[in-house]
Amino acid sequence: TDNVSFKQLVAWLHEFGTLVNQNKSYLTELDSAIGDADHGANMARGMTSVLNLVDADGADGVGTLFKKAGMTLVSSVGGASGPLYGTFFMKFGTSTGAADQLTPEQLAAALRAGLDGVLARGKAELGDKTMVDAMVPAVEAMEKAFGEGESLAAGTAAAAEAARQGREATIEMLARKGRASYLGERSVGHQDPGATSTAYLFEALAASVDK
Ligand code: ADP
Ligand code: MG
Ligand code: MG
Repeated sequence: TDNVSFKQLVAWLHEFGTLVNQNKSYLTELDSAIGDADHGANMARGMTSVLNLVDADGADGVGTLFKKAGMTLVSSVGGASGPLYGTFFMKFGTSTGAADQLTPEQLAAALRAGLDGVLARGKAELGDKTMVDAMVPAVEAMEKAFGEGESLAAGTAAAAEAARQGREATIEMLARKGRASYLGERSVGHQDPGATSTAYLFEALAASVDK
């Protein structure tokens, strides 16, 4: 079938954790240019806590898994990114409910719910140079792909590609939210750390459903 299994969703969290750990110094380097040099450490710490809990609670359904993951990020990450990614995962879990697998449409709806949570909590708009600039195009690309009857693999790959393009687009943006906004014009020319980790989030999803 073309559904996303519970195991693939657990693999998604593992793959995201692997990517943020592998790129921890890079994320921190990006944050040192326009922030306070802790995005890599924040994300690595948060995802390590999440993965400890995932391994301990492997029998949970999708909703419980993602709600717990989200609450763990909120409580283990001090920075702006913890509550935002935490909200993303909590809303994802609320959207799926106690399912043990997701149809492509349910996956897209859960990602849309997560994105809406990030927008409501952080109040950033497209173009403000935040994770939103990678997340919005990714979710839209997936909805478009599934709307046109594309496969799970094709839809998640399209989302990952759109997130990467959104990440690249942040370089020329002037920051209007978060710490980078304190720099005003000096934020231009630097890639947003949160948009970079969000591109990993969607790359991880595409890699996990492909297995
Ligand atoms: P902090 O800035 O508190 O140190 P992090 O460094 O972990 O937290 O995360 C910074 C990232 O958070 C930014 O690169 C940006 O993508 C994201 N961010 C900050 N504020 C917002 C917001 N209001 N809405 C969406 N994303 C935001
Ligand atoms: Mg920071
Ligand atoms: Mg910080």
